[in-house]
Amino acid sequence: MAEKKVALACTVCGSRNYTVSTNANRTERLALKKFCKHCGKHTLHRETR
Ligand SMILES: [Zn+2]
Repeated sequence: MAEKKVALACTVCGSRNYTVSTNANRTERLALKKFCKHCGKHTLHRETR
């Protein structure tokens, strides 16, 4: 099972708050609602490399 790690960055302030393991064969970008401690609320977080 091939997995790769990606960081999730807040789309509001740009800080990288989370890392997740994901399927290496997946091509579309992850976008998740996560809590950002910099923004103090849940924001959309996108996969970075
Ligand atoms: Zn933020």
